[in-house]
Amino acid sequence: MPQIKVKIYRFDPSKDTEGTLREYTVDVADGARVLHVLHAVHEQDPDLAYRYCCGTGQCGSCALQVNGVPVLACFHEATDGMVLRPLNLPVQKDLVVDMGPALASIASLVPGPGRDLPRKREIDAIKPLRSCIECLACVSICPAMEVAEFTGPTAMRQEMRLALDPRDTRDRIPQAIQEGLFTCTTCQYCWKVCPKDIQIPGKAIEKLRAIANRQGLTLPRHQEIAQIIRETGRSVPRTQPTFLEQVGGTIEPYGEVKATVGFFVGCMYNLRLPRTALDALEVLRRNGVRLIIPPEQICCGSPLIRTGQVAAIPEIQEKNIRAFVSRGVDTVLTMCAGCGSTLKNDYRTPFRVVDINELLCSIGIEMPDILPVRAAYHDPCHLLRGQGIRDQPRQILGTVVNEVVELPVKCCGAGGGTRSGMPQVSHALAGKKAEEISKTGVDVVVTSCPFCEFHIREHSDRPVQNITSILLEGYRAKDARCSKEN
Ligand code: SF4
Ligand code: SF4
Repeated sequence: MPQIKVKIYRFDPSKDTEGTLREYTVDVADGARVLHVLHAVHEQDPDLAYRYCCGTGQCGSCALQVNGVPVLACFHEATDGMVLRPLNLPVQKDLVVDMGPALASIASLVPGPGRDLPRKREIDAIKPLRSCIECLACVSICPAMEVAEFTGPTAMRQEMRLALDPRDTRDRIPQAIQEGLFTCTTCQYCWKVCPKDIQIPGKAIEKLRAIANRQGLTLPRHQEIAQIIRETGRSVPRTQPTFLEQVGGTIEPYGEVKATVGFFVGCMYNLRLPRTALDALEVLRRNGVRLIIPPEQICCGSPLIRTGQVAAIPEIQEKNIRAFVSRGVDTVLTMCAGCGSTLKNDYRTPFRVVDINELLCSIGIEMPDILPVRAAYHDPCHLLRGQGIRDQPRQILGTVVNEVVELPVKCCGAGGGTRSGMPQVSHALAGKKAEEISKTGVDVVVTSCPFCEFHIREHSDRPVQNITSILLEGYRAKDARCSKEN
């Protein structure tokens, strides 16, 4: 029988002004889950407050944080040294939180006089939204809720569920907008912590925004961006020579060819940060990547999908797919986290899509010189959660800086149309990110998404660099050292 050490947050509002972590050692069976550990601790310390009911992942009452991540205690395997805290909601005692306000915000069916039962296709559409067990894991981590009046992910899930139900008579859209529909940054964190795998951003938030669009309720700034895309094929106006004007066709690597890929540059790197895309190009050439760059590629459509303006999406997708297929490309490389996530998750491409971090790690990079800097790595939501890419950028960064410092994994506020449509929410989130960065005392923040790069740079007192730019700096330092030595 293994012994497990566990630290548990203890807080009694009748006695304590703040919570503390208390350590326990318990004997549990192999494969024990967190709830087994809590039962064992409770035998030693009957004063510990925690909530549970079904023990089978059906009631949602045992949700808590294990090492900072919300999980169901009855499902999650216990590990030695784990730290248990309550969900990030008002604490009533120890691990028990006040679920009342969030549960009260979940809308209910408003039945009309007719008794139209949902048809099969409506039932199928409702299905992915109805398995919520009201554990509030999603609510406890939603960054938008921390800075704005927003009823949160599961309330939006329920609004969309009811919008699909023919028995419901209420127009759900004005209510959803009032409840903060456009404050969501589509960071996807709610989906990733949901024990029922409910894809709230894609299946609820973006769908509600699409209905709002059909009702003429899209935010004016989002409509302006759609207009720019219609007119130019790009989501931002041209202010300088673009990457695609400077580079095109087939670009050969400097040495042996290790991979041949199509290069999807994305609007932000093409028009706002072409220098960064040129840095990436240099890194790729140096590492044996042949690039095929079709000049007719356009915006991936992400700004439209995230804001519910989806009418033009099939045409956009077709144009981009054709640009690469016509050149016989079987792999397309993205360096923008948002474009990569969109191509991987919102398109059905006949080619493989890889992110630049993924590609570089899979072919193995030339070692750069180590720069004398401490760098914090910021996880872009659309890279970490949209594409599941966590380790590769850290691996690359670890080759070129003295120290990689971890930041709390939190959205910077740039995504989901929030930066353009709800700037106050977006700025508040970036302000929090800037504070976290400042606390680390790092020399530089490194990331791998042009939106994060742009947005954090505007708010932080530290310089912000793209991962390929800092890698290139390491290569240049190496070149300078070698030429001195020769
Ligand atoms: S996607 Fe992010 S911001 Fe939107 S509801 Fe989910 S957790 Fe909140
Ligand atoms: S949507 Fe998922 S995470 Fe949110 S309350 Fe429901 S089951 Fe829990």
